[in-house]
Amino acid sequence: MAARPATRHQELVRQLESHNHSYYVLDAPTVSDAEYDKLYRELVAIEETHPDLRTPSSPTQRVGGAPREGFVKVTHASRMYSLDNAYSVEDLDEFDRRVREGLREQDVVQYVAEPKIDGGSLEVKYSDGLLARAATRGDGAIGEDVTQNVRTIRALPLTIADTRTMTLRGEVLMYREDLATVNEQRLAAGEEAFMNARNAASGSLRLLDSQQTAQRPLRVFLYDMVERHFKTHVDMLESIAKLGLPSHRRHRVCNSLDEVKAFIVEFDKVRHTLPYDTDGVVVKINHYDQRDRLGATTKFPRWAIAYKFAAERAATKVIDVSCDLGRTGAITPVAEMEPVLLGGTTVARASLHNYDYVAAKDVRVGDTVWIEKAGEVIPQVLEVIKEKRPKGAKAVVPPSECPVCGTPVKRIEGEAALRCTNTHCKGRVKAAIFYFTRRSAMDIDRLGWVLVEQLVDTGIVQDVADIFALPTKREELIALERMAAKSADNVIAAIDEARASRTFDRLITALGIPLVGTVAAKLIAERYGDLGTMLEREPADIAAELAEIHGIGPKIAESVSAFMDDKATRALLQKLLKMGVVAVQPKAAAPVEGPLTGSSFCVTGVLTQPREQVHASIRDAGGEVHDRVKKGTTYLVAGEKVGQSKLDSAKKHGTKIINEQDLAHLIQS
Ligand code: NAD
Repeated sequence: MAARPATRHQELVRQLESHNHSYYVLDAPTVSDAEYDKLYRELVAIEETHPDLRTPSSPTQRVGGAPREGFVKVTHASRMYSLDNAYSVEDLDEFDRRVREGLREQDVVQYVAEPKIDGGSLEVKYSDGLLARAATRGDGAIGEDVTQNVRTIRALPLTIADTRTMTLRGEVLMYREDLATVNEQRLAAGEEAFMNARNAASGSLRLLDSQQTAQRPLRVFLYDMVERHFKTHVDMLESIAKLGLPSHRRHRVCNSLDEVKAFIVEFDKVRHTLPYDTDGVVVKINHYDQRDRLGATTKFPRWAIAYKFAAERAATKVIDVSCDLGRTGAITPVAEMEPVLLGGTTVARASLHNYDYVAAKDVRVGDTVWIEKAGEVIPQVLEVIKEKRPKGAKAVVPPSECPVCGTPVKRIEGEAALRCTNTHCKGRVKAAIFYFTRRSAMDIDRLGWVLVEQLVDTGIVQDVADIFALPTKREELIALERMAAKSADNVIAAIDEARASRTFDRLITALGIPLVGTVAAKLIAERYGDLGTMLEREPADIAAELAEIHGIGPKIAESVSAFMDDKATRALLQKLLKMGVVAVQPKAAAPVEGPLTGSSFCVTGVLTQPREQVHASIRDAGGEVHDRVKKGTTYLVAGEKVGQSKLDSAKKHGTKIINEQDLAHLIQS
């Protein structure tokens, strides 16, 4: 019998290691967090009763996963820990007891309770007022250098008005609405959607191409500092906020554990209204001297604990599998289910992503399944509870024709999705209009799905431009089912408002150009200013002009050019102009003026200072930074050991080659 816990221990370690790899290294988990946590807790329990089985390499003793290949590795000056978890009030009581035991009797314990943000851990170091380095947590001791990528996150200042070295820790995250847009773009480009915001954020942070990261709407919230510049956590949080560093700003100082518990209850009620995912409340000691006295285990600090909210999952029965048709023609299988309460709302439909997913999970009509709202706005089917499968559960057959217009479906090579190729298909038109009106795009909230359906079915609206003719069709609107005069007037007012006051980047986002998300849309809008100007450019010139913009890669430039080259698209854009859609982009904030204004630089080779610092000095002096030498790059700043290809391309483009000292002279001139 003695061998059994050891065997089970071995098996759990193997499984958890494999899940850790999928989750932390590949950013593509294969099981839900709840399933993972269950296995993890089983392992903890075995090790508690059989301490001899606990080795330093057990997943209970180690943080995260190994750094991903391809990144420069960073050794953290001080360990980046995970957090111990509490799942119940009793766990919190136990934590409080341990804290008091570890402190002196005269110590007054003050906690700070704050949201546990569901993103990826990040360390950002500022020195001499400059963002000098950013790294992931990795295995806690060694992380990945993601400085280039983090510099693309607009919410994070590159310079701050404090020259002390500050090693800040925080979370990189993606807002739910941004995730939905990113996923639509990915599906449109034939890529897999991200499972949740956490995977999307840490996956985007760890792309090897920072141009791609720049396209992902990432944000950062900072919540800890390694250095002891302050006496308390709250002082630190408030001071970094004053420096313009992003933080969650939702902390509360609690003078007792009861106050902590009250915060947890209150926060659980409002957290769904936040634009980002949270999965718990982190409870931390406020005074740094007390933290230092409590110390840490190999994996967790002893001065903090994460109270985790129960995973938002539920079991329900699949009564049918229908299809949703997207604006690009992609056909998504959807599970129609017995309604069930999940995360505060009643859910009756869940996404099955694509037919490969249905086959891999072996979802059948009649099955009972686990569904989860893992950050996605739309819940998803996680897995089938096989033991509950009834006899005669029906396998799902992918459609051979479009469920709306009957056109035979196509599977484009290399894509998981099946597609309807008929651009006039009413299903696609409805989806395109709905996409156009969404909040992150033209934001016409009065045009809900039911109204869009009616408008397209009755033929009043045949494309997105027709929306702007609705104000002249008041009577037709009122004649629609369930449409009173007052609601029709509200719809008209919302359309007129959108026509007159949306910025150009929103219009670009609304058009759903493949690969163009909100970030690229902004850069494009800033380049052309308005739709009329953009339409005057030759599509081939557009490709070249966009490729010159820092943050837009050649693939995006080509995609926009192809979009602008399409006859039907051009007709639609002309029609939008005729409808009086103004969509002007306000001028971007004036770039810094300085001695380098008007010049651009590419920095390469081994330098005496970190490359990021050199970039920052160039930008601060008004110069532009290019990540490769291209047409129009004025200078190549070459350090030691410069590759021949860089020198050749400088020659080819007439770029002047200078060294670090020359650059310093230019800055001082
Ligand atoms: P964690 O996510 O449970 O908590 C620790 C992390 O919380 C910290 O490292 C920090 O990045 C973050 N955090 C967020 N807000 C914070 C705040 N205000 N203050 C301090 N820290 C804050 O721990 P972990 O080690 O990152 O991940 C473990 C969890 O990840 C597991 O419990 C499991 O749910 C999940 N996981 C899932 C799989 C899978 O295959 N599904 C695999 C591995 C891990």
